[in-house]
Amino acid sequence: PADYNYAEALQKSMFFYEAQRSGKLPENNRVSWRGDSGLQDGADVGHDLTGGWYDAGDHVKFGLPMAATAAMLAWSVYEYRDAYEQSGQLEAMLDNIKWATDYFVKAHTAPNELWGQVGNGGADHAWWGPAEVMQMQRPAYKIDASCPGSDLAGTTAAALASASIIFKPTDAAYAEQLLKHAKELYSFADQYRGKYSDCIKDAASYYNSWSGYADELTWGAVWLYMATEDDAYLQKAVQSVNEWGTDGQTPYWGYKWTHAWDDVHYGAQLLLARLTGDSRFVQSTERNLDYWSSGTSQGERIRYTPGGLAYLDQWGALRYAANASFLAFVYSDWVEDPVKKSKYRDFASRQILYMLGDNPRKASYVVGYGSNAPEHPHHRTAHGSWSDSLENPANHRHVLYGALVGGPNADDTYTDEIGNYVNNEVATDYNAGFTGALARMYQLYGSGQKPLPGFPVAEQAEEDEFFVEAAINSSGPAYTEIKALLNNRSGWPARMGDKLSFRYYLDLTEVYEAGYTAADVTVSAGGYNQGAKVSGLMPFDTSRHLYYVTLDFTGVKIYPGGQPHFRKEVQFRIAAPQHTSFWNPGNDYSYQGLTSTLTKTPYMTVYDAGRQVFGKEP
Ligand code: BGC
Ligand code: CA
Repeated sequence: PADYNYAEALQKSMFFYEAQRSGKLPENNRVSWRGDSGLQDGADVGHDLTGGWYDAGDHVKFGLPMAATAAMLAWSVYEYRDAYEQSGQLEAMLDNIKWATDYFVKAHTAPNELWGQVGNGGADHAWWGPAEVMQMQRPAYKIDASCPGSDLAGTTAAALASASIIFKPTDAAYAEQLLKHAKELYSFADQYRGKYSDCIKDAASYYNSWSGYADELTWGAVWLYMATEDDAYLQKAVQSVNEWGTDGQTPYWGYKWTHAWDDVHYGAQLLLARLTGDSRFVQSTERNLDYWSSGTSQGERIRYTPGGLAYLDQWGALRYAANASFLAFVYSDWVEDPVKKSKYRDFASRQILYMLGDNPRKASYVVGYGSNAPEHPHHRTAHGSWSDSLENPANHRHVLYGALVGGPNADDTYTDEIGNYVNNEVATDYNAGFTGALARMYQLYGSGQKPLPGFPVAEQAEEDEFFVEAAINSSGPAYTEIKALLNNRSGWPARMGDKLSFRYYLDLTEVYEAGYTAADVTVSAGGYNQGAKVSGLMPFDTSRHLYYVTLDFTGVKIYPGGQPHFRKEVQFRIAAPQHTSFWNPGNDYSYQGLTSTLTKTPYMTVYDAGRQVFGKEP
């Protein structure tokens, strides 16, 4: 197990969470290819709902998995704070959790009102581009007393209560604020019962509340008890388990799944086992962990791939195994029976090693980590298409370090395809249990390991982000007509171009030699123009008779977001007085290299809000 650097894996997982940030990025943003985005979130409902995480390879902010993830990460700090500290990741981990909890505080706009989603699944998923330039409507959806969601409010309460515990040592005031919101959200969840996806209907297609809300009522109460030591919460937790469902025809609580965004009774029963020692919780936890590892006393066991991965479901298989591993580690740390202790620990270690590269493909399933790692995750901003296309560019422009992909098929096969969101998407919830398990791996096997020095190295733009392509559209003895397309393929980070302009330079020596002046030369818009203002001739260097035309697209949105958007065309004509014969475009600076087919030219300079961003002035 020492073949893998767990400090590095943790460090990269932190990077992944930073890459998922929505809103105004902080000064210390480490993801060089990310910029501010979603700055209008909440404006439609009169609240500031900026911030939080983009869920996965998309840009919806789904409240349920976001809160489930934050709670899982906070839980891992609660268990393994030393591992984060010693691997140099504690500060980044706390910042990442705070990014989510700050958002929950904002989204909790009244005691019984919580905004549980920003962005519409259909509208969001219909577009394949970077977050910084998205243009679709991003409606906000809420739960409140008239249409409640005990699952969403309960899990958000769990996230805030667990975070309040881990922030207490470094920021007591913040911890107090989180706890206040957690308590209010819990009583909202408890008093007004309902499934959030019956109210936030758009969520039903993506994160439906399959398991209902009894598990979240327990989960929230357990964390509130741990944060407050108020017995009333422990009583609520223990009472609410009577409403948990059983597995099929069995008398047992569900044991054939694992802790994840929908069903959080697995984590709740584990913590209750540890808090109360009650055999119901102990047995149910062991039934679940046995199902995943050695098999239950009835001989039931999860399917395993030939290569040794415990395989629950094709959609994000690794995430489930990672979550089960985190629970197994936590339980193994507590259980006294040495046989159980090592059984659960070995199970968890084996699963995490599979993910890091100890598998039949000898491949890492973590982007930018280890050998033969995925390079084509289903992730819009990391791919960086300017043309709203999964196929363009062929390779991702950015490395989404640390993201655990969905994972292999049940026979250990896997293809690294951008379009495959079942096996190759990444998600905040995929990395949650995984991160906690990595922290424990670091403690167990990574002693002395260091994160990568100097990580991350800022990416440099690999190609021109702005440029002009041009051609000769038509010409005559006394005029030249140019067709030009101003491109915005920015990606480091992607930027809106609504103040872009470019220049076309001419040498008028022959005009002056013939006894005319620049005033005799006219510039006019040609047959096609997608919104540029065409200027008259402006002097550049009169001693050399150099003049230029400005084609100014200010007010037109040119942005890397699809075929009609990433470039805009203008045609313009420069003409000498009619019936004259001195006109010579051949000496014009910007005419160099032009033919009748479009070519990229460095001789037309591009400006963003007046600042030159491309080309060489003459
Ligand atoms: C999106 C994914 C999403 C999937 C299923 C795709 O269009 O890109 O982010 O997981 O739809 O909803
Ligand atoms: Ca639930």
